[in-house]
Amino acid sequence: MLTRKNLIFIGAPGAGKGTYSELLTAQEPLAHISTGDLLRDEIKRGTELGMAAEKVMKSGGLVSDDIVTGMVKSRLSQPDADNGFILDGFPRTLKQAEMLNEALADLGKKLDCVVYFNIPDEVVIERLTSRILCRKCGKIYNRLYMPPKQEGVCDDCGGEIYQRTDDSEETAKNRLKVFHESTQPLIDFYRNAGLLMEMTATDKSEGLALLLEGLR
Ligand code: ADP
Ligand code: ZN
Repeated sequence: MLTRKNLIFIGAPGAGKGTYSELLTAQEPLAHISTGDLLRDEIKRGTELGMAAEKVMKSGGLVSDDIVTGMVKSRLSQPDADNGFILDGFPRTLKQAEMLNEALADLGKKLDCVVYFNIPDEVVIERLTSRILCRKCGKIYNRLYMPPKQEGVCDDCGGEIYQRTDDSEETAKNRLKVFHESTQPLIDFYRNAGLLMEMTATDKSEGLALLLEGLR
């Protein structure tokens, strides 16, 4: 059991937020709330919101603060979030962080910890451009280091493996730039609030052990 379970994961794209979210939710009953996944789902369903978001996402820019905060607030008000949650990829701007504080106050919740995955840019670019995933269950693989057993097929569910269009080298570089400009200021914001926990491990099982220890 964790004592700190209302969490934010911050880090550059490809720093490991999604991977550690999967590892952690496999053993703790936390709701995994990824704004990237929520947005991709809106696109897949062809909603108005999805259509508005699609262009921005393709270029690696940020979707509007109101849209993403609205999505997160409604997701946080679902009952499974009462057991704790991981906000993965949100907030990404100071404005979103302020809007989140208001939303949490409205919902009678508070943050316990902000985990910052601090990984060098070169590592991130290499990881992003070799990242592949399952279209059906979302499991993340890596073409270089962690390919599926059979090429193009998910080990877990047999689904098709693909690369996200925003993981091309050009878009990846732009997303990293956006991270440094818009999201980096949040790190000081949460450090000053006494909530920041920094993770630098690149080894997954070591990283998970450290993470669990920090949240206990
Ligand atoms: P990554 O963390 O690997 O960049 P995500 O799946 O979290 O990927 O996000 C993909 C894209 O979705 C982002 O590049 C951005 O366009 C959009 N997005 C996700 N979360 C947010 C957010 N909190 N604010 C604005 N845009 C977002
Ligand atoms: Zn799968």
